[in-house]
Amino acid sequence: MIKISAPGLVIREQSIGESDKLITVLTAKYGLVRAFSRGAKKTKSKKLAATSLLAYGEFTFVKTKDAFSVEDALVKEVFFELREDVEKMALAQYFCELANEFCEEDFEAEEILRLLLNGIWLLKNDKKTTDFIKAVIEMRLMSLSGYMPDLVGCEQCGAYETEKMFFVPESGKIYCEECAPSGFNYRVNASVIQAMRYVTLSDFEKIFSFVLNEESQKLFGKITEAYLLQKTQRKFNTLDFYRVIKS
Ligand SMILES: [Zn+2]
Repeated sequence: MIKISAPGLVIREQSIGESDKLITVLTAKYGLVRAFSRGAKKTKSKKLAATSLLAYGEFTFVKTKDAFSVEDALVKEVFFELREDVEKMALAQYFCELANEFCEEDFEAEEILRLLLNGIWLLKNDKKTTDFIKAVIEMRLMSLSGYMPDLVGCEQCGAYETEKMFFVPESGKIYCEECAPSGFNYRVNASVIQAMRYVTLSDFEKIFSFVLNEESQKLFGKITEAYLLQKTQRKFNTLDFYRVIKS
């Protein structure tokens, strides 16, 4: 029997029968842990809150044969207020789906966990707009997952900053107006280029602390989303749902 303990965030919950659940917990040390929680759906269960989506707590898992089960779960923070705001909740669920996509079992996920917790905390406390939080999370997550875009300067001539620049999601490279290849590229202004550089290269503590006007936030978000979808080549149901709510 293997026993492990770690703080973690519940990023997925599925019902199993009448009273059990299968949850996916994102932990810093072990990456994703999928575990059964017996009796967790019963209203009297002390595990009910701690094993719900977006609950953050201290978990103890026991592995018997091939499956983990939740032995103990002590809740530290639930972000249940988000459930009262359908837009924020949809976005938080998208972040959870991203974590499920980019992390795996036995995986060092410390910064990804911190990124999610920070993003969800900012959402809950209305500290930044949803567009802003989403863009920062997408950009940083891509950088952490081996898809850091090359933002040093124009790919062709090396220009660091020109009035108009273009970002190519397929390659993750930027070009000045003179050198931009033909085809569908994203035209970006200097503030968006600066934001992209800032989020990919700053220390973790600083990544959410910059200001961008509303128009640039939208453009920044379009680019980070296009880049993420291009690199993952998949569809995220939670993102589609978020889009429907925003429209
Ligand atoms: Zn150039």
